[in-house]
Amino acid sequence: MATPKREKGEGKDEKQDKVEIKECPECGSKCLIRDYDKAEIFCADCGLVVAENIVDMGPEWRAFDSEQMSRRARVGAPLTYRIHDKGLSTLTNWGTAQGGEQYKLKKWQQRTHIANTTERSFIFALSEIERMASALKLPVNIREAASMLYRKAMRKHLIRGRSIEGITSAILYITCRQYGVPRTLEEIREVSRVGQKEISRAYRFLLRELDIKVSPASPIDFVPRFCSMLGLGGDIRAKAIEIIKRASEKELTNGRGPIGIAAAAIYIAAILNGEHRTQKEVSDVTGVTEVTIRNRYKELSEQLDIEVLL
Ligand SMILES: [Zn+2]
Repeated sequence: MATPKREKGEGKDEKQDKVEIKECPECGSKCLIRDYDKAEIFCADCGLVVAENIVDMGPEWRAFDSEQMSRRARVGAPLTYRIHDKGLSTLTNWGTAQGGEQYKLKKWQQRTHIANTTERSFIFALSEIERMASALKLPVNIREAASMLYRKAMRKHLIRGRSIEGITSAILYITCRQYGVPRTLEEIREVSRVGQKEISRAYRFLLRELDIKVSPASPIDFVPRFCSMLGLGGDIRAKAIEIIKRASEKELTNGRGPIGIAAAAIYIAAILNGEHRTQKEVSDVTGVTEVTIRNRYKELSEQLDIEVLL
């Protein structure tokens, strides 16, 4: 059986793959799903890919699926950066001895080329942030904060060898959280050019390398947006928030992802107010599976003594 090869910079994740992961580091949910086909573990509540290339696989698993293949192909691209670095240092070494206009010109061209490449990728990154932010209808201050965070990552040379699409997606995800208007990973993925796995990876990487601490999102933060997406009014929003507060007082939210809790509370509140939304409808809007909504809704209604008449 082939051992899956790792990408540059992913070595620190290696440890994580071998330990038994019990809860999602992102939202604290214990609903982790092992996808043996893709050799990964992801969170059923928030969608974070918690671990990749997990080793306790059945005989059927393939180390290289098509996505990994194409990613590997893309990872090849930044090689040009390395060539540039090498080129410059080599030039500098013999350059001082050799001198001459020819050398200066060559060096200048090299530098300009590097500057152009960096600048081009930076412009592309900003346009990606702008494109996704406007699709997500994010306010200007969040776009600016996201651009600044990208710049910071660039100054620390964290972009090299990584996909700009993945990094910018993760940066938007982080910034929304920091500003108290969290978007789900699923919502980010919908406007992103890359998949959940790539966003998750960039997210974990940036938190680690930039030493960013994001506090777990509160289920309440998701309620207003989800309600308006479901066409539910202020009374239902208030009811859902009340349910969440009661649940958290009774510690029913521990070990549960905030999005699943928000989804279930809205589901219950809507029924109580005579505006039934199906689990499928709530699932479509929140990105939480119907199974999770059902489980949370049962827990909440039973533990909080809420009689839900369908
Ligand atoms: Zn999670």
